[in-house]
Amino acid sequence: MASVVENHHSSRECDVLIVGAGASGLMCAIHAGRRGLKVMVMEKGPKPGLKILVSGGGRCNFTNLWADPEDHYLSENQHFCISAMRRYPVSEFIDMVNAHGIGYHEKKLGQLFCDHSAQDIVAMLLNEAEQVGVDIRLNSEVSQIVPDAGGFRVSVTPGKAAEASCAYVVSAPQVVLASGGLSLPKIASDLAYRTARELNMSIVSPSPALVPLTWNNVDKADFADLSGVSVECEVSCGGQSFRENLLFTHRGLSGPAILQASSYWQPKAGVFIDLLPHFDLLTELEIARHQRGKSRLSAILKGALPNRLVDAVSGTWFEDTAVAQMSSQQCEAVAEQFHRWCFRPGGTEGYRTAEVTLGGISTAEFSSKTFEAKRCKGLYAIGEALDVTGWLGGYNFQWAWASGYCCAQHL
Ligand SMILES: Cc1cc2nc3c(=O)[nH]c(=O)nc-3n(C[C@H](O)[C@H](O)[C@H](O)COP(=O)(O)OP(=O)(O)OC[C@H]3O[C@@H](n4cnc5c(N)ncnc54)[C@H](O)[C@@H]3O)c2cc1C
Repeated sequence: MASVVENHHSSRECDVLIVGAGASGLMCAIHAGRRGLKVMVMEKGPKPGLKILVSGGGRCNFTNLWADPEDHYLSENQHFCISAMRRYPVSEFIDMVNAHGIGYHEKKLGQLFCDHSAQDIVAMLLNEAEQVGVDIRLNSEVSQIVPDAGGFRVSVTPGKAAEASCAYVVSAPQVVLASGGLSLPKIASDLAYRTARELNMSIVSPSPALVPLTWNNVDKADFADLSGVSVECEVSCGGQSFRENLLFTHRGLSGPAILQASSYWQPKAGVFIDLLPHFDLLTELEIARHQRGKSRLSAILKGALPNRLVDAVSGTWFEDTAVAQMSSQQCEAVAEQFHRWCFRPGGTEGYRTAEVTLGGISTAEFSSKTFEAKRCKGLYAIGEALDVTGWLGGYNFQWAWASGYCCAQHL
């Protein structure tokens, strides 16, 4: 069993201890270091910035030119993120990327990706951190944080099995929770939520977001063979609509339009999908009835949708007759079906494939200016650990950079 060793040598080793060398933690460390603070970062994983490395398909969609705190973030308190996002705008991070000579491009919709690799962003952050003497301890999992005599006692368990017996305690006058959410279970931990609960802070129940939605049993039989089919569509859920690609998979629906909608989806609710957002099917059917009445309905649909999709729903969504034989009511019903498919997901793929966690430590517990806990002086929380979740497209990293930077100004 791991024994906890009091590490008195390290008790005054830092002015601030940051938990997590991810996006927000590294940003906070750099700016706290620039202000002359002695910064120690504890990272559970064997490498810093692991989530940055796997992000954006390995090219890290590091920000979004259009990021707007009022439009692109979900939280119980929609206003919480505004202050930090205004104080650390997108242009600030782009300046840093430019200063390091990192090539990037806009892929679509304001999304900026590295030309080469996400490794460039991690190398930039580590270089900046090194310049100001940040001490990053890898394979060091924080297991508990306890307030103690005007500061905190932080229990650390070295990650490698051989060292598991060498758990130790570090005293720190200030602690920043930058340990992220629950996605990517291999590197995630629930430390931030656990710490908040132990301090009687409220949590907005976490759930997977930006995540593929899975089939219910009925749809699975109809659609599972469509794996790989992709269509541009408009997906609406919880009062939001996203016009982007949708991808059929063996397990359900994915693609950017579905990932975006998943953040607004509640279990048992329906997701409305317009499979033909660029096409008025009813008008097309009326025209076809008069001009080419012998055409089969499937042929008209195949002019606008992938053949495999039309074949899969033929017989269930529509009877494949000649369009001249269709009544106006039948035309309306078919148009409604394709423009407003009500998909009832069985669930989500969960944290294994989710990009982010919806919910987190309630923002009501923290100052939106300093990120300090209102009821626990010296404790801070930033990034995804808090109940602030961005849309898909670089918005989550922008929140991590902005909250990390702003918190550092007040340590
Ligand atoms: C596959 C994938 C792709 C993504 N792509 C993008 C993208 O392209 N653009 C975008 O904007 N967002 C993307 N995201 C979301 C983005 O990565 C996160 O929102 C962002 O990294 C959150 O920053 P953070 O600092 O809060 O947490 P993280 O970056 O997750 O950092 C938290 C760190 O804390 C460490 N940690 C956790 N618990 C402990 C503990 N107990 N002790 C010590 N260390 C601990 C973790 O190992 C981790 O390194 C993606 C996410 C995933 C999973």
